Amino acid sequence: MHRAEKCTKCGCIEIVHRVMVAHDGQRGEANVSLRLDADPTAMFLKKSVRSIFHAEVCSACGYVEFYAHNPAELLAAFRDAPGPAK
Ligand SMILES: [Zn+2]
Repeated sequence: MHRAEKCTKCGCIEIVHRVMVAHDGQRGEANVSLRLDADPTAMFLKKSVRSIFHAEVCSACGYVEFYAHNPAELLAAFRDAPGPAK
């Protein structure tokens, strides 16, 4: 899991690591996830790949960086996707 060692905005080295990105839903708190569809035009089987992610937060200026937990799987779905958007 990637960790920020230094704030890219202010240079502070005190980073709050592994902050959960969550929302309060009807069934309680849950992770927010990224989703990429390898076949976005499909009616049903869009070959969706999901990844939760976490935040690294600067303790001085509050700047936030996000890191996906399975970027390789997202990349594979992106490469499989049709179309000129690559
Ligand atoms: Zn900062």
